[in-house]
Amino acid sequence: MSEGAGQPAPTTAPPVSTKPVYKRVLLKLSGEALAGNNKFGIDVQVLADIAAEIAVVNRAGIELGIVVGGGNFFRGVSTAAAGMDRVSADYIGMLATVMNAMAMQQALQHIGIECRVQSAININSIVEPYIRGKAMKHLKLGRVVIFAGGTGNPLFTTDTAASLRASEIDAEIMLKATRVDGVYNADPEKNSQAQKFASLSYDSVLARGLRVMDLTAITLCRDNNLPVRVFDIHAAGNLQKALFGGDVGTLVGN
Ligand code: UDP
Repeated sequence: MSEGAGQPAPTTAPPVSTKPVYKRVLLKLSGEALAGNNKFGIDVQVLADIAAEIAVVNRAGIELGIVVGGGNFFRGVSTAAAGMDRVSADYIGMLATVMNAMAMQQALQHIGIECRVQSAININSIVEPYIRGKAMKHLKLGRVVIFAGGTGNPLFTTDTAASLRASEIDAEIMLKATRVDGVYNADPEKNSQAQKFASLSYDSVLARGLRVMDLTAITLCRDNNLPVRVFDIHAAGNLQKALFGGDVGTLVGN
């Protein structure tokens, strides 16, 4: 469904270009995306599958930054954190993102993709600290850079970290990988009549209360004019399609 017109999305997708349409992008991977059906921890096969998708776009010359979540291990607002001091619980959540980042780095390196992890929380004996200039250098050298530790601040989410890092590295688009193939007007897992939006404006996302990202993250994208494509990372070839101009998921922009 095209936002505004209220029409169904066209059934024939425009031809996909043979060349990438973006030079530098930021991929947001939730922790859940790494957990597979287990819903907790890391499913190594899922990790390998996603790494293979990333390798294709890296080898095509696209500069790729990745922000990983930590929800497959711990969330500061979760029931697991009930009774804890929220700020401390959030630090546990941020540390969880470092585990995911390191696991993804291993999966990428295993298939020959150069990758660096930079953390917003200093853990210098394990990963690099986040230094923008250094991250930019890695990207230009064709290395994938995984940004761990969220924003480094409690009370934020990794979606906000993704909006922030995407803007900082001058990414042309943020790709938000989910389990669902876009944004719907109702939960497609609960409502078979739910319709997918082909595109949406930031203001519509906010006005309709669509849970694409948290408010801080979507507002930051809007203020920095950063388009966001919400798509299903588990469908083989989808990441490449999204970066080669294919009609995948839902595009949120102006
Ligand atoms: N977190 C935080 N500050 C940040 C990013 C994350 O405190 O800048 C904490 C927060 O507790 C959050 C957890 O880390 O619940 C994991 O991140 P998130 O829930 O965004 O992960 P995802 O849902 O993407 O797996």
